[in-house]
Amino acid sequence: MSNKFIPYGHQSISEEDIQAVVDILRGDWLTMGPSVEEFERAFADYIGVREAVTFSNGTAALHGAMHAAGVRPGDGVVAPSMTFAATSNAAVYCSAVPLFADLSPQTLCLDPEQTRAVCKSAKRPIKVIAPVSFAGYPVDIAAFREVAAANGALLIEDASHALGAERGARKVGQEADLTTFSFHPVKHITTGEGGMVTTNSPELAHRLRVFRSHGIVKQPDDFVRPYAGPWDNDMIDLGYNYRLSDISCALGMSQLKRVDAFVARRKAIASEYREKLSDIPGTVLPPDHPGHSYHLFSIWVEPHIRKNVFMALRKAQIGVQVHYVPVHLHTYYRNTFAYKEGDYPNTERLSAGEISLPIYPDMTGEDIDFVVDQLRQIVPRAMAVLND
Ligand SMILES: *Cc1c(COP(=O)(O)O)cnc(C)c1O
Repeated sequence: MSNKFIPYGHQSISEEDIQAVVDILRGDWLTMGPSVEEFERAFADYIGVREAVTFSNGTAALHGAMHAAGVRPGDGVVAPSMTFAATSNAAVYCSAVPLFADLSPQTLCLDPEQTRAVCKSAKRPIKVIAPVSFAGYPVDIAAFREVAAANGALLIEDASHALGAERGARKVGQEADLTTFSFHPVKHITTGEGGMVTTNSPELAHRLRVFRSHGIVKQPDDFVRPYAGPWDNDMIDLGYNYRLSDISCALGMSQLKRVDAFVARRKAIASEYREKLSDIPGTVLPPDHPGHSYHLFSIWVEPHIRKNVFMALRKAQIGVQVHYVPVHLHTYYRNTFAYKEGDYPNTERLSAGEISLPIYPDMTGEDIDFVVDQLRQIVPRAMAVLND
């Protein structure tokens, strides 16, 4: 038996990545230098979109996107509950009210019909609809565009799981009004901490850039009052320091060169799992899509054996995780917005049996076989205990 720990996700760092960071450390600009724009340009070109704006992390990117979209106190923002809390937290940062809609079991993403129903019964203006391309499965963007347009809302796609995912020939990141990405080490590419927002609107991009840097402008054209001279600056909006450093951006540039290889390897691991797990009784595999970029590979077991299976896999040094505890059931959300068990049945049912298996570019064939072999032993054993 192997004693090596196999995490559920892990960064892949090359000598070239290390050199790129070292070069920055030997140079003049650690932050606010030329690497920031270089990374933004390269990322925008990769996605096929006009503008890309870096943020200090994916959560700050979501906050910036909500603010740029005009989310104000009391507005409604529709999001899935099957996500990391950051998606709806970003709406709460703007003092908006998070209105969850249930997910579609076919995609594990927000259901457009449920979203339409939530908008219809909402007692407040809906400013943003924020679907998450869960695990890397691209959400049905056309359906969401329609719901957003019908409600006068903007569409923010949380694509933290979906860098490199595609709808036909289009990369995720082109089609929503604003799309956010995360560069946390478990995501497709990493900058340590980091995030990005893509948009085809120069106006939204401008708002994002002002918000990211204290709400302060320095260029004469950006002033709303008379410009006094080269020393002048004016805070025109309440912003934050959400900048990403040149150190991080250089790492991001270097990582971006390998993004296609990373995505291809994730897809290959997913097909191998599909093939090798298909005959294990009591194991349900995730929905597939030709453009899926597989940040996660989830399986579902009978909810009553999930804990048993999870603990046995951890004991075998397999770093499985659960994605997610539904956001509406977190204590803060229950206490602040009165959400409760039973509010989103599909989300709660699918959260209850989920286990995320290891998937990352440097995972070896042996690692995959070890995970498969352990599941082949553990799941039937747990089912037998349940049926006793
Ligand atoms: C990773 C992630 C984020 C943002 O995470 P950061 O750690 O702030 O970069 C947001 N939403 C989802 C769904 C995520 O998985």
